Amino acid sequence: MNSSRPTVAEIERAIRTIPDFPQPGIQFKDITPLLADARLFAGAIDLLTEKFKPGSVDAGVGIDARGFIFAAAAAVRLQAGFVPVRKKGKLPYQTHEQEYALEYGYATVAIHVDALKPGSRVLLIDDLLATGGTAAAAAALVKKLGARILEAAFLIELKFLNGRAKLAGVPIRSLVVY
Ligand code: AMP
Repeated sequence: MNSSRPTVAEIERAIRTIPDFPQPGIQFKDITPLLADARLFAGAIDLLTEKFKPGSVDAGVGIDARGFIFAAAAAVRLQAGFVPVRKKGKLPYQTHEQEYALEYGYATVAIHVDALKPGSRVLLIDDLLATGGTAAAAAALVKKLGARILEAAFLIELKFLNGRAKLAGVPIRSLVVY
C-alpha cells in the first residue's frame, strides 16, 4: 500500500461535485469518496493540522455536521479535546446560541456554556467555507466563551463567495480552493 502523504491535487480529485443538490443551482462538494480512502483521509487531517504540534491546541471545535468528522480526527492527532458547535435544539445542556443569515432566511448554531475554558486555544474546523456565515457564527460562540481561535481550517474553500471577509482577524487555512 502507498503510505506516502497525499498531495492536495490527489485530495481534490477525490472530491466530487454533484450539481443541483440539495437544491437547483447548488454545486454540492461531496467528500465521501475522500473519507472512504484511508490514505487520503489521514493525509487531509495531516494537512489541516500541520501548523500545530500535539499539545499546542486545547480543543478542536467542529461545525455540525461534516466538520465533526475532521475536527474529531484533528483533535486526536493534536491530543486536544473535541467540542461540537451544533444546529439549534440538538445540544442537551445549557447553550449559547448565535443566529446568522442564510441566502433565504436565518439559521442558529449553539455551543454548551461550559464547552471551553476561558483562554483555551482552539482550532475551528469545518469541511467547507462558502459565504462564511456558519463559520463566523461558530467563531462568535467560541469567543463568547472567552476562548482563542488559533486558526480556522477548512478542507474546501469556495473563494468566489468571499467567506474570509466574515472571519476578519482569524487566520484561515483551506486545502482545496475553488
Ligand atoms: P457558509 O455558511 O455559506 O460558509 O456555508 C458553509 C456550510 O454549508 C458548511 O458547513 C458546509 O458544509 C455547507 N456548504 C455550503 N455550501 C456547500 C457546498 N457547495 N457543498 C457542500 N457543502 C456546502
